[in-house]
Amino acid sequence: MILRMSTLFVRTLRDDPNDAEVPSHRLLVRAGYIRRVAPGLYTWLPLGLRVLRKVEQIVRDEMDAIGAHEMLFPALLPKEPYEASNRWTDYGDSIFRIKDRKGNDYLLGPTHEEMFTLVVKDLYSSYKDLPLSIYQIQTKYRDEARPRAGILRGREFVMKDSYSFDVDDAGLDVSYQKHRDAYIRIFDKLGFEYVIVKATSGAMGGSKSEEFLAKAEVGEDTYVRCTHCDYAANVEAVTVRAPDAVSYDDAPAAHAEDTPATPTIDTLVEHLNAAYPRDDRPWAAGDTLKNVLVVLKHPDGTREPLAIGLPGDREVDQKRLEGQLEPIEVEAMDEAELAKHPALVKGYIGPEALGEDSADNGGSGIRYLVDPRVVEGTRWVTGANVPGSHVIDLVAGRDFMPDGTIEAAEIRDGDDCPNCTDGMLESARGIEMGHIFQLGRLYADALGLKVLDENGKLVTVTMGSYGVGPSRAVAAIAEGTLDEIGLAWPRNVAPVDVHIVAAGKDDAIFAAASALAEELSARGIEVLYDDRTGKVSPGVKFKDAELIGVPTIVTVGRGLADGTVEVRDRASGERVEVAVKDAAAHLVELVRA
Ligand code: ATP
Ligand code: MG
Repeated sequence: MILRMSTLFVRTLRDDPNDAEVPSHRLLVRAGYIRRVAPGLYTWLPLGLRVLRKVEQIVRDEMDAIGAHEMLFPALLPKEPYEASNRWTDYGDSIFRIKDRKGNDYLLGPTHEEMFTLVVKDLYSSYKDLPLSIYQIQTKYRDEARPRAGILRGREFVMKDSYSFDVDDAGLDVSYQKHRDAYIRIFDKLGFEYVIVKATSGAMGGSKSEEFLAKAEVGEDTYVRCTHCDYAANVEAVTVRAPDAVSYDDAPAAHAEDTPATPTIDTLVEHLNAAYPRDDRPWAAGDTLKNVLVVLKHPDGTREPLAIGLPGDREVDQKRLEGQLEPIEVEAMDEAELAKHPALVKGYIGPEALGEDSADNGGSGIRYLVDPRVVEGTRWVTGANVPGSHVIDLVAGRDFMPDGTIEAAEIRDGDDCPNCTDGMLESARGIEMGHIFQLGRLYADALGLKVLDENGKLVTVTMGSYGVGPSRAVAAIAEGTLDEIGLAWPRNVAPVDVHIVAAGKDDAIFAAASALAEELSARGIEVLYDDRTGKVSPGVKFKDAELIGVPTIVTVGRGLADGTVEVRDRASGERVEVAVKDAAAHLVELVRA
């Protein structure tokens, strides 16, 4: 196969697109791989489509290898199955909804658990039919709140989604493990530096789940790893180890004190150290209990206030909070909303005015959840619900009783590992490339997927769901391999194997370059041949080759007089002169290595 630059549908650009936020996006547009149509919607140009198809094929091969069967659902789907699972509502603004000419509701599928469950229900009825794994490589639609970085977060994107069906939990474990192993092979082949982390299951429901994250500074996910054990988790999924309850027998009674003009933690700590110094050590932000008010936006549109109590040295991490509450979205409580609760004094809010039962004593009645570190017996300085006043020695479990706990506080480098006693957490950023879930019986229950077991009894099937994003992977691979001069594809996903540049004006150069292209093609090598003549200088051709990023660049030019061509490794920059007569064999060996 030979693509000739003179006729290929590609236009490389010297300037960066002005909406490009990350290097891979910039270069994929400049090198002529993708074109933007609208926010989060991109056209795959010939070079880009070739990379996408190669990534898809790697995924397909590994799915086939674990005995999963490929099929294909429509993207346009009826509402009813998604109503049965509640996701028509739970997905909120994130799904594209459509009406047909008769006024019936449809959606563009964001993921297909419901459809796969129903097709198995439709066709299978016995435990003998299971286990089963089926998958598709298909276009998904999500009205993402923040489409970003080109194809990294699109509103239309490609996903491989597979689903496993088993009669019992042990079967699900096996199916899950097979997919996990397949994913490891996929990401090894794609050449990612990646980590497998514990994840939250979000709107999917279900229990066990793990994410595959490509390590990348531009990633939107933060994960942590333990310095000592093998614990790794998306920060959203970290569960802080709650300390043991402490005795409060000798704790003094809580006492309210004047703390004028101390609406922030810093001003409060400064005031405490000046006016009420401790004997043992200075007061610190971590001694205070900060109460943060937010509003929960439920998918059906209802709004609910929530108060979160956490040590004053930590902020609320919005992603962690939303990770616990999905599909609910969280907003900060604004002044107008705060004003609706006269019991709350801004800057001096304390537990007494919070909690579902507090309304009985003139409090706000707002649900009050605290950080897991706020265990029974811990002593706090916190708002007294009076302007310019705080309570000291307020003891959890004695003086206040929260409605429960929530994992909303930021995780910091150096925090204790939740899994071992010796390690600390370290954070880094990544791009979510794949996500595997043990769904359990959630969807099968909602949609009535049962089979007869060995004893002729109807049992609900247990499921797993496994996603990989090939279109996102194209961007992530580009991001992980590019350099200052352009893209630099790994060999197995590059749009072609070899980029031949005819550098010069002589017919002999073009004749030799063309002959090499033909010979390589005949030997099964994919070639991009820059055969442009006229005004296109060698300099322009080299720049384009560097930008496009085919792993091997062959220059047929000046050396031809001495019977050589230059073979350059795009990634390392290494160059070797090879005799013209040996060039094809040399290149075939390189590509096949
Ligand atoms: P994210 O947290 O990044 O939004 P997600 O948790 O919504 O991802 P899943 O629903 O688990 O993602 O989808 C499976 C895979 O599909 C993801 O691992 C990712 O590779 C891909 N994917 C999800 N959303 C997008 C998107 N908007 N654009 C491109 N790929 C996506
Ligand atoms: Mg998402």
